[in-house]
Amino acid sequence: MKKIAIIGAGISGLFFANLLEKDQSYSYKIFEKKNSLDLTDGYGIQLSVNSINLLNKIGFQKINANDICFPKKVNFFDAKNSKKICDIDISKFNNQNNRYTTLKRAKLLKFLLANIPLEKLFFNSDLIDIKNQNKLSLHFKDKNIEEFDYLVAADGIYSKTKQILFKKEGLPKYFNSIALRGNIHNFKNFDISLFLGSKFHFVIYPISQNQEFNFISIIRKELIEQEISNRNLFKDNSFINNLLNQISSKSNLNLSKEVKDIKCFPIFVSKKIQVPKSKNIFLTGDAFYSFPPSFAQGASQSIEAANELFNDLKNNSTNYYKIRTLKTKQINSRSSFNHFAFHLSNPLNVFIRDIFLKYLSKNKTFLENYLGKIYSN
Ligand SMILES: Cc1cc2nc3c(=O)[nH]c(=O)nc-3n(C[C@H](O)[C@H](O)[C@H](O)COP(=O)(O)OP(=O)(O)OC[C@H]3O[C@@H](n4cnc5c(N)ncnc54)[C@H](O)[C@@H]3O)c2cc1C
Repeated sequence: MKKIAIIGAGISGLFFANLLEKDQSYSYKIFEKKNSLDLTDGYGIQLSVNSINLLNKIGFQKINANDICFPKKVNFFDAKNSKKICDIDISKFNNQNNRYTTLKRAKLLKFLLANIPLEKLFFNSDLIDIKNQNKLSLHFKDKNIEEFDYLVAADGIYSKTKQILFKKEGLPKYFNSIALRGNIHNFKNFDISLFLGSKFHFVIYPISQNQEFNFISIIRKELIEQEISNRNLFKDNSFINNLLNQISSKSNLNLSKEVKDIKCFPIFVSKKIQVPKSKNIFLTGDAFYSFPPSFAQGASQSIEAANELFNDLKNNSTNYYKIRTLKTKQINSRSSFNHFAFHLSNPLNVFIRDIFLKYLSKNKTFLENYLGKIYSN
């Protein structure tokens, strides 16, 4: 039986492990750098039908109904006065039991972990080197060395695997933006609310049936090298409060008061698509490519990529990187375009953008092409 090492117990690595668990044709181990997974985190995640379709194949429809929400629309608002610009009916892309879903990331991880035998998951396992002769020899920080036939790198945006393979070129780049994440209670709208401001946007969506909502804002911010690498800066309360006040003052919602448990982090994206030379090393999820977070496809693509990789291995085919590269380019262009359009500041540009938004949000052909293509798999 071929042996697979999965590096990283995030969304992609755990979903891949679920597919292996169901199939039983391979033996596998998951190596996770952290000493545990946070299953209490209250922040949210959006999953479009393409990933729900795949998750349902491993029993996601049985998840507690109280822990998930099915928003039907994305409502666009002008952040400064909360005036509605337009809406997009995302439920149009739902099919049978596969519906656009929002929930807490921790609930998704808990679901993905439930079918993985504990003895296959190794915490405190930080990959530091890879030697590739006949077999792949993986070296961990605790001096553990193990041999495998395949390596599936699902170690996220700061992928160590990628750094080992591509050195400096494997590092992501700062996206000149900062994310503020938080929780809101008792927000009035159970769909996805997207507020557009000058050089920022924020999104509020429900994450359970208990009046819990996720708040996420992406704010443009140029930082110098020293600031980016200073992780304490992003934990500094005055830095966080300044950012929140900055967007709060440009919105008629009292964000400073309403948003709780705020966390702040710099946004990094991949520099380019990179394919390893070794035929038995596969990058998946954010380790393969990390998108600007303005299209909410990161988690869904991490799941899709793991599924494509599993099918490739099963069918002894070599299409994985070809298919992934194509899909990645489609999503990257949409994510970058959204980021640009959401953050316009010149009033004339904003006026024209809003006219386009009103028209395109009701244009079937455009929606089928822009969203439908991505949401079908
Ligand atoms: C602000 C923001 C908002 C987002 N919102 C959404 C959203 O609404 N919808 C959506 O679809 N996506 C969203 N995303 C993106 C999404 O969170 C990611 O794309 C997704 O989590 C990637 O999954 P992954 O499994 O590739 O990586 P991760 O979930 O990051 O998991 C990687 C794992 O690898 C481990 N690891 C790292 N290094 C090593 C090592 N050397 N050895 C062993 N283990 C290691 C890590 O500890 C971690 O557990 C958002 C991202 C950001 C930044």
